[in-house]
Amino acid sequence: MQGVILPGERRVEFRETPVPEPGHGQVLVQMRASGLCGSDLRAIYREHTGVGAERYQNVIAGHEPCGEVAAVGPGVQAFQRGDRVVLYHIVGCGVCRFCRSGFMINCSAPASKRAAYGWQRDGGHAPFLLAEERTLVRLPDELSYVDGALVACGFGTAYQSILRVGVSGRDRTLVVGLGPVGLGAVMLAAASGAEVIGVDLVQDRLDLARQAGAAHTVEAGDHAESQIMALTDGHGVETAIDCSGSGAGRHLCLDAAREWGRVAFVGEGGTVTFEPSPLLLHKQLTLHGSWVCGLVEMEQLVEWLARKNLHPETTVTHRFGLEQAAEAYALFDRGQTGKVVLEWT
Ligand SMILES: [Zn+2]
Ligand SMILES: [Zn+2]
Repeated sequence: MQGVILPGERRVEFRETPVPEPGHGQVLVQMRASGLCGSDLRAIYREHTGVGAERYQNVIAGHEPCGEVAAVGPGVQAFQRGDRVVLYHIVGCGVCRFCRSGFMINCSAPASKRAAYGWQRDGGHAPFLLAEERTLVRLPDELSYVDGALVACGFGTAYQSILRVGVSGRDRTLVVGLGPVGLGAVMLAAASGAEVIGVDLVQDRLDLARQAGAAHTVEAGDHAESQIMALTDGHGVETAIDCSGSGAGRHLCLDAAREWGRVAFVGEGGTVTFEPSPLLLHKQLTLHGSWVCGLVEMEQLVEWLARKNLHPETTVTHRFGLEQAAEAYALFDRGQTGKVVLEWT
């Protein structure tokens, strides 16, 4: 089979590999959808960041896989051929404190004992993927494979952030940065009953946020804070989530949060400087860092999406076949799109 490799410097290459055989506790997944994630752009596609075993290991890329079980290895207990599955994208050691809690993203074992699909072991940008059974989450029939691929990283990450700040129907929730994770946060916060304000530089993304459930959208820039204040009767927002990873976006979340507000930083990279006294201490804010989600949260999320008839797929603006992966990455890299996915039809 042909799989996509990302050698860096914005290149996309194909490598021929045999279809893998599932070993003990393993499952062969036939891919149906495989998302492109901002982390792939930042840490692999443009240049390989990360050091040692944390680095991308020239494996088949794609850490948002979703598909159908094609074969199971010996000892597999809960899944069988034909099951529709999403993958939690990190295989942890399984026995450390974080793995036991389902947060395999935080696995504390040596790097040789853990691997992320698409980073240190083969991922979803190929017709088949070899998965560990314990990383599988059942995809409800109401959700599409593309819905599932989006849950695997972006929507899972967005869901965890709204749990962290405790978004409720009493809140006005600010979401800054309306790429795929931000659009997920908008959809899930709105579905939680919050009045959502979305902020981004790109008009198309503001339109997507409206479609995802934002009550208001504000163009990023010098006037964003005063507009948010006007929308909240001068109070500011109860909850704010930065998905931009930019200093300005993070600052805006702290600026626009009202007293006793809750803020989460989710967008990766970059840096920020701010004055803690007026912005954090005197406003009695709670500031969370939030990274990916846990296995249990991912199970909760797919169940909730199905029950509420919510479809992450609605944030997808561009779809490509596997053979068009180079085009897909080049387009996504321009930062103007909603979600971009590879799909097998
Ligand atoms: Zn572990
Ligand atoms: Zn990701």
